[in-house]
Amino acid sequence: MRNDQDEQIIDPWGQNSIDDYDRLFKEFGIEYIKPLLSLFKKGHKFLRRGIIFAHTDLKPILNAIQNGKQWSVLSGIKPSYKFHLGSLLTATEIVMFQEMGGTPFYCIADIEAYEDNKIPIDSKESIEYSIDNLADILALGLDPEKAYIYRQSREETVMRLAFIYGGRVTQNQLRAIYGEKTNFGLYMAALVQVGDILLPQHEKFGGPNPTVIPVGVDQAPHIRLSRDLARKLRLIPPSATFHKLLQGLDGSPKMSKRSPMSYFSLDEEPASITKKIQNALTGGRATAKEQRQAGGEPQKCRVYDLIKFHFLEDDKELETFRVNCTTGTVLCGECKKRVIDIVLNFVQKHQEKKKKLRVLAKKILRID
Ligand code: SF4
Repeated sequence: MRNDQDEQIIDPWGQNSIDDYDRLFKEFGIEYIKPLLSLFKKGHKFLRRGIIFAHTDLKPILNAIQNGKQWSVLSGIKPSYKFHLGSLLTATEIVMFQEMGGTPFYCIADIEAYEDNKIPIDSKESIEYSIDNLADILALGLDPEKAYIYRQSREETVMRLAFIYGGRVTQNQLRAIYGEKTNFGLYMAALVQVGDILLPQHEKFGGPNPTVIPVGVDQAPHIRLSRDLARKLRLIPPSATFHKLLQGLDGSPKMSKRSPMSYFSLDEEPASITKKIQNALTGGRATAKEQRQAGGEPQKCRVYDLIKFHFLEDDKELETFRVNCTTGTVLCGECKKRVIDIVLNFVQKHQEKKKKLRVLAKKILRID
């Protein structure tokens, strides 16, 4: 989609795919991260494997790391569904940045869940997902003692900031960044998001200091608006890292609740996960004979994506999967079985950890 100036419009709430990355990068001030990789002392698998592939203005963060200065990372989740493969991406990133020394700010975005998914704030559903989602990220390793975790609707500073920002932005500016929205609440939710993004720079948290926001490229509009407003308010324009989007298991361009076969949640029954992986799009050839001769194409395979993005830490093991595929040594049926074992093992351990963390999640969110 394009606006009147023929710029590419990305809808952070929609299902559109990116049609021209180079042009998008130019319009949103995004650069490839590769030239900066040597500056990261600890190479996380997302950096090594090119999953985090681009950034906006990451230098202030790298300088803060090198000079032992305070910096933050902010991310969040809409309490609108169970933790799925997409939520796992940003959760892994926030844990990664915490391990690098950043202070995490983790927002339970219940206002956005209302605007976007019509889940009323404080409803049983909203509260249940809030607890559940938080227990998930705690199980993935977020240290709550060194993080600021909050519900968007309860954080007064965010609300106040959103009001202030509302006075500094015009409707035309919002339209240029987000496209025409008939639901004005989405523009308001965008301003609340800017409130979240700039919250770590508030004086009550010792700000201003550099903040990095790990997102998918579809969230670039929020970063652009936040950076524009930060400049006006004499804050440090937030940095961002961009990850590749995990595409739907069923072959769809984006994982979506509307296509249940395109994703699975970390709470899902083993039989259901198994079925989804068994039915996933692969890079296999039309016949077994052809695949043995020509090899498969892991770069087109959604099963390979699962282990590349999330479920295999060891690069050597991942390389073995790739070579077995490209040489036709292992065919898709056998390969899927191995991936299913790896995924189910992860999910089982995760569920055990998570179960024990629900009480802590409730306590952090002050929910009785
Ligand atoms: S062998 Fe494995 S990695 Fe290769 S295309 Fe088949 S399922 Fe994908």
